[in-house]
Amino acid sequence: MMTEPPKSGGGDEMCPICNKPKSQHKPEEILECSKKIRDFHDAKEDKGKK
Ligand SMILES: [Zn+2]
Repeated sequence: MMTEPPKSGGGDEMCPICNKPKSQHKPEEILECSKKIRDFHDAKEDKGKK
């Protein structure tokens, strides 16, 4: 059985990097975006460090 694609406003997780639902990413995009998200968090953590 196929799962129904969520409509806008559904529970699909949006990517903060490219503003697309994560389900619409290509595998390369998922890699790229998750890497950028990680860099973003790392930068944040760096700021808190002295
Ligand atoms: Zn993305």
